[in-house]
Amino acid sequence: MPEPAPDPELFDKVVNLCKRRGFVFPSAEIYGGFRSTYDYGPVGVLMLRNVKDAWWRSMVQLRDDVVGLDAAILSPPAIWEASGHLATFTDPLVDCRNCGARHRLDKLDDREVCSTCGRRGALTEPRPFNLMFKTHAGPVEDAGSVTYLRPETAQGIFVNFTNVVNTSRKKPPFGIAQIGKSFRNEITPHNFVFRTREFEQMEMEYFVPPEDGPRWYEYWCRERFNWYLELGMPADRLRLRVHEPDELSHYSSGTSDVEYLFPWGWDELEGIAQRTDFDLRRHAEHSGERLDWFDQATGTRYTPYVVEPAAGATRTMMAFLMAAYDEEEVRGETRTVLRLHPRLAPYQVAVLPLSKKAELVGPAREVLASLQPHYMCEYDETQAIGRRYRRQDELGTPYCVTVDFDSLEDNAVTVRERDSMDQDRIPIADVVPYLRERLEP
Ligand code: ATP
Repeated sequence: MPEPAPDPELFDKVVNLCKRRGFVFPSAEIYGGFRSTYDYGPVGVLMLRNVKDAWWRSMVQLRDDVVGLDAAILSPPAIWEASGHLATFTDPLVDCRNCGARHRLDKLDDREVCSTCGRRGALTEPRPFNLMFKTHAGPVEDAGSVTYLRPETAQGIFVNFTNVVNTSRKKPPFGIAQIGKSFRNEITPHNFVFRTREFEQMEMEYFVPPEDGPRWYEYWCRERFNWYLELGMPADRLRLRVHEPDELSHYSSGTSDVEYLFPWGWDELEGIAQRTDFDLRRHAEHSGERLDWFDQATGTRYTPYVVEPAAGATRTMMAFLMAAYDEEEVRGETRTVLRLHPRLAPYQVAVLPLSKKAELVGPAREVLASLQPHYMCEYDETQAIGRRYRRQDELGTPYCVTVDFDSLEDNAVTVRERDSMDQDRIPIADVVPYLRERLEP
């Protein structure tokens, strides 16, 4: 089957919708914005939370071999010394002598040509640029107070290995999962929330006996790829790409990326890496603490190997929005609809009284109150009902529940489904089970 073509127009459409409907706003906008940082609006915060919850559900809740952790963002240089980030977490920075633009050399299509002004041969020699944000803890800004904002959540997991082992009763193979903010001083943040300096990651370190590393790596590549499919990503826009040896990070003996066909082409959503025993060994060496496992059954001691699926929550949310965006002709008008998986949609249900009259608002609010304990709901009584449906379509809300004047007689409501726009008349008492059957298969 031929690969679908990337759709450059889709990018602007999704970015506009994000602003217009309250998914994502440029940060500090009233001051002219701030360097590729973004704020998540009323519906964006719901959807981002849903992406993270869907990951947590699959990685922690539905398993008995993975536990969670939430480690600190501020961290001492010792961690990054041991992990190798101080020495090697760099990107090759080049400047254009002609136009002054700055680039990451490895991301240029032609390493001789400035992608901003097109001049050949004007780029400086590459300089390694460390991506970690440095700050100072405490009132004195001296060498002793240097502190880093973590550039990945993984190291907080490695340094807690013994704490978790001693308190959780897990033994290899087992994993520690974490979701949280990470910070990288990216040379060229771009493509909306795809590459930002502050972003959220969803990472899991899976500790296994060394000889089982390759098997678990294959397993996690499959599991993680399927997660995106189960949440509605089209199979022809998703691929697993094995890294070439010269692409591998300093800690990795093998990595595959889950890639999505973004409007600008294939790009990374998640990396699944074989980190071997690199991190535990380095932290053991640097801290002097023992970070290994004693297998009582065989009487042997070993440093577990690690398989790491590392995904970006904010980047993944953007990909889900791109995948869900659709336009179709309905009765001579263009309808924009986000065909989001119900688990990811900001609201699962919208409750809409047909009119603002008190006789409908009262019962509509009662329906709302009966749904709120089960679902994230929106209540909207403004504008004509058709416009309100369109708004919910653009938010990706799978079901709208409309309370009309007949409801006062028949104690029933109209339930409209987003994708088909089909409507069912349902007794008010049956709405929760009706939705449960459809929203939680
Ligand atoms: P890249 O090559 O794109 O810089 P990476 O391979 O360094 O990314 P990892 O260190 O593997 O990325 O991080 C795991 C995941 O975290 C990435 O797959 C991505 O989803 C997310 N991520 C990394 N950097 C950023 C960023 N600057 N903005 C948003 N998400 C990011």
